[in-house]
This record gives sequence, structure tokens and C-alpha cells, in this order.
Amino acid sequence: MLELEALTKTYKTGDRALTNVSFAVPAGQVVGLIGPSGAGKSSLIRCINRLVEPTAGSIRLGDTELTTLNGRALRKARRRIGMIFQEYALVERLTVMENVLSGRLGYVAGWRSFLRRYPQADIDQAFGLLDRVGLGEHYNKRADELSGGQRQRVGIARALEQNPELLLVDEPTASLDPKTSRQIMRLIQSVCREMNLPAIINIHDVVLAQNFADRIIGLQAGQVVFDGAPSELSHQALTRIYGAEDWAQVQQTNELQVSEAELSEAKVLEGL
Ligand code: ADP
Ligand code: MG
Repeated sequence: MLELEALTKTYKTGDRALTNVSFAVPAGQVVGLIGPSGAGKSSLIRCINRLVEPTAGSIRLGDTELTTLNGRALRKARRRIGMIFQEYALVERLTVMENVLSGRLGYVAGWRSFLRRYPQADIDQAFGLLDRVGLGEHYNKRADELSGGQRQRVGIARALEQNPELLLVDEPTASLDPKTSRQIMRLIQSVCREMNLPAIINIHDVVLAQNFADRIIGLQAGQVVFDGAPSELSHQALTRIYGAEDWAQVQQTNELQVSEAELSEAKVLEGL
């Protein structure tokens, strides 16, 4: 369980990124955090893993108050949080397997991680995760030989190799095509269910969020203006989050794009 209470962030520049944000994410729940550019989505995720210092409020992961941790205690707490980044920051010259194992670096003693020697149990777990994300056969490929979707799968396996208690995901589909985006979102959703992991996924694509999150939280200028089930995200709610727009048409256009992408994929598979 992750609990945010009255979380507020003001940057040194005076930019108010978050104002009194409060919500709790129970185990296994996937939250789609939506909102226009500048709404505070990345700031929220960075406050939770303390890449950014919260100005006020509280963040609890299980029994641990994260906002006051420093040094060793902070490093220990960060190991409990799996991060999946937008640019799926992999080490290009390392293999898929080595990238996944690097998720264990926080645990492996210094000299062992320097020699990149991992306990067999970690290696076995990494093989299991690579199978789970559909990359079992590619474990020995170099990261720079992979497609965008495959790289994001490695990012997911690496985050899970940490055995996290929480998953934070910042725009996982930003540079992927519609079909691959759906596959990646579906994968994140299903591993969270299997592992009973809570997750917050920042995503600007409303339709993707609605299809693959259990709950939607809408941010507008640093404040929560919607918190509910994907089915409750009405055109009025979307207008509160993003401003006025013809939402019926936006959603229809998006569905069309997706079905076209899926159709062309199906043709490739059928060899047409
Ligand atoms: P989003 O991820 O939803 O696009 P951000 O969290 O990146 O939103 O930004 C929220 C607000 O905080 C914006 O006004 C942005 O300009 C500001 N901001 C973000 N990062 C910084 C920073 N490092 N320094 C100053 N202001 C920042
Ligand atoms: Mg952002």
C-alpha cells in the first residue's frame, strides 16, 4: 500500500508542481495518472522515489515514511520501488540478461557487482522474468539490437528483478507505435495482477489509460481533479483535466487508429 497525504511540491524557481495531493494505492491496483503536459505527473513520481524533494506532505510505503529518509535508509527504501522509465534507459553494450540482473545491483555486495557476478538464484529469477515478458530467447542479445517494444520489456523485467513493492512508470509508451503501446500496457497490467503489485503509470494517452488501468487519477495544474474508475471518466471529467475538446471524436479517432494498426499487424502475421 502506498499512501500520499497532502503532498505538495514547489520548485526553487517558484513553480508549483503539486498542491495537496492525497490518495492511496492498494496492493495490485494499477493507477493511470493522466493530465496535460506540465500537470505534475513526473513530479509526483519523482517525489515518491525522492529524485525530487517534496516540499510538504507525507508519502508512506507500507510502514515507512519516505519523505524523511536519508542516506542508507533512503537507498534501502528505493530498492523497494521498481522504476520503468520513458527512455527505457538500458546499458546498450550489455546483454539483455545483464541489464535485467542490474536490477539486483542494490542487493549484491560491491565486489560481486563490480565483477558482475550474481548469485544463481538471481540468474534463475531473471530467466523466469525474461520468459514472462516474452524475451526468453533473447537473453544473450545486446540491448542495442532490440526494438523499442523489446527494450521496454527488458525495462519491465529489470524493475521486477528488484522484487519491488511498488512500480512507478513514467510514460512507458511515449515512443512506441499504437499496437506495441497496447502490448506493453497489457503486460504491465497483467504482471501487477499476478504479483499483487501496486503501480502508478504516467500516461498522456487517455484511451490507453482507460483500457489498461484499474483506476484513473486526473491531474490539472498540480491538483487531483478526477479520481475514479476508467468507466467514470466522462467528457465533463476530461474537460476538467484537459480543458474543452470534442471528447467523443477524440476517443473515436483513437479507436480507429488502433484498429488500423491491429489490422495491419494481423495481415503481416497471415503473410498477406
Ligand atoms: P508533467 O510530467 O505532467 O508534464 P511535470 O511534473 O514535469 O509535469 O511539471 C509540473 C510543473 O513543474 C511544470 O510547471 C514544470 O515546469 C515544473 N517543473 C518540473 N520540473 C521542474 C524543475 N526541475 N525545476 C523547476 N520547475 C519544474
Ligand atoms: Mg512528465
